[in-house]
Amino acid sequence: MNKIRVLPEILANKIAAGEIVERPASVVKELLENSIDAHCRTLHVSVLSGGKRLIQVRDDGEGMNPDDAILAFEHHATSKLQNAEDLAAIATLGFRGEALPSIASVSRLTLKTRPQDPDSMSGTEVEIQGGVMRSVKPVPWDRGTEITVRDLFFNVPARRKFLRSHDTELGHIARLVTHYALAHPEIRFALESDGRTLIDAVAVSELEERIYQIFGERFLDNLVELSGQAGSVKIRGFSSRPHEQRTNTYSQFFYVNRRMVRDKVITSAIRQAYHNCMPASAYPVVILFVELPFDEVDVNAHPAKTEIRFRDQSAIHKLVQDTIEQALVKSASVPQYEHRGLTAPDPAIPGQSYPARVDTFQNQGEEAFDFTSPAVSTNPFQRALNYPFRELPTFTPAKHEDHASLRIVPDMLIGSPVESSRPFQSSAVRILGQLQDSYIIACDNQGLLIIDQHVAHERILYEKMAAAARNSTVETQGLLVPLSLDLPPHQVALLERMIPELNRNGFVVEHFGGNSVLVRSVPAIAGDSDCRKLLSEILEGLEQEERILDLERIRDRIAVSTACRAAVKVNMPLTTEKMQWLLDQLALTRIPTNCPHGRPVILRFTIYEIERNFGRI
Ligand code: ADP
Ligand code: MG
Repeated sequence: MNKIRVLPEILANKIAAGEIVERPASVVKELLENSIDAHCRTLHVSVLSGGKRLIQVRDDGEGMNPDDAILAFEHHATSKLQNAEDLAAIATLGFRGEALPSIASVSRLTLKTRPQDPDSMSGTEVEIQGGVMRSVKPVPWDRGTEITVRDLFFNVPARRKFLRSHDTELGHIARLVTHYALAHPEIRFALESDGRTLIDAVAVSELEERIYQIFGERFLDNLVELSGQAGSVKIRGFSSRPHEQRTNTYSQFFYVNRRMVRDKVITSAIRQAYHNCMPASAYPVVILFVELPFDEVDVNAHPAKTEIRFRDQSAIHKLVQDTIEQALVKSASVPQYEHRGLTAPDPAIPGQSYPARVDTFQNQGEEAFDFTSPAVSTNPFQRALNYPFRELPTFTPAKHEDHASLRIVPDMLIGSPVESSRPFQSSAVRILGQLQDSYIIACDNQGLLIIDQHVAHERILYEKMAAAARNSTVETQGLLVPLSLDLPPHQVALLERMIPELNRNGFVVEHFGGNSVLVRSVPAIAGDSDCRKLLSEILEGLEQEERILDLERIRDRIAVSTACRAAVKVNMPLTTEKMQWLLDQLALTRIPTNCPHGRPVILRFTIYEIERNFGRI
């Protein structure tokens, strides 16, 4: 007897559905994409119990006639592809003809639809349960399409078990709707969950307006605008200023020809663009649209269609990285202090309230910087999305530094308006003195500046070192007595691989056999800093890199560690000349506002803030 059997159709469909329908949000994705492909103007999504009980998507698009309404549930039935050539240049979001039959095979689905066509007298209703068509009948219907999906996975208990809590599933749905709402400002998007409206964004003409509708007023203030082109590839969008940091990628939205995608090339370009102004543990907000000819990208790489392949990956990588870097440099601005009064108000004065954030400001405890538990938002939409948004402090805890006597939470920081491309001009700055032997206090015609001397110097040295490494002109300095180091075993292999690059960057390091290495020289910039610590810091940093190490990453790691070790420390008195030198040099750097770990270098108190706090205005 043969052992191979062809699976019954219903079982095969269920298996195929597994690839497309992972959770309620995947259903929402497919239905939204169909509505957008049908050129709708309004899209209404309604869910019950995080989409587990019900998902309903209603549009006012092209609709279907009765024959198409039935055909739509056949596998590989699509109106979007005609022949093999079409596959090479797909312009619609859908093309596989698999979504509706897959969804219908794992739920109880009702479709109501009517085409725009004035000849069609009524609408059509199709009911399918677990892939079996139960009824097709004419119904009164205005126009467009409504698909209702009940009891997802009712017949696939294994999948149903893996669904998460209502809130988690709702979060995925809300993010999905947000994704497509950002890509299509010209469509009205509404999302309702258990009767509550989470999104209602009327049609607008610009992306900015849509961002404003969804994320609120202040969101855009902390982003820079992106715009770039290379050959036939264009990119546009927005991304974080360096101080706008998130703990996860939930605020990253990528699109290729307005299709939402996940893509390693884009992710890596973004990482590299931010690598010297944001800690590796933080993520920028990015809304990025890549537009390119349809035949330059293969969208048929995965059943869910979110993975794609660019024909020329490196060109895309370079364009994204360069565009973000240029936007960051152009808009480098000093974070502004935005806060009334440093001291607690007098409780005896009636009506004087104590702003909650003053507490955080003075609080040195780590709890103010807890990234793990996003603060509870009062806005139901934000809560559903589980977005950190504005409530979550975004600076890295300064655990490795004990000097941070003045710490800020980002809520108090806003970027100053970008009047000039430089955040300050050193010729206009007058040094007033040093605070706690750690901070330079200065003023210019816009107000007061506080500069963290250590991170300022770190930024200067980092850029010098990185530039020298790029030009292979790193100066080296021999040690009077070569230093012998014993490394832990797991670092020896890493060091062996790194030796050539270390030696190109101002070190002279030899492997001595076993766990021992001998250091004969270090980069001159490192001065007399502890080179034992420097080397182990470099190796530890490299070990933590989650990505494959390329030359640039290695070089950068060396530059970051060397700059940090060699920079002037806090609690060190400086002469006025030395402070002036630091500011002059800082003004020449590419990103004077943030240290290579992403922390701020300068705080500004504007004249306006000072006058406001003194009650003069
Ligand atoms: P695909 O989108 O890959 O073509 P689907 O299974 O998602 O496959 O849909 C099958 C077909 O049903 C589509 O090609 C389209 O013609 C039709 N269709 C689905 N949803 C809608 C809708 N909301 N409005 C109009 N037509 C639709
Ligand atoms: Mg589709």
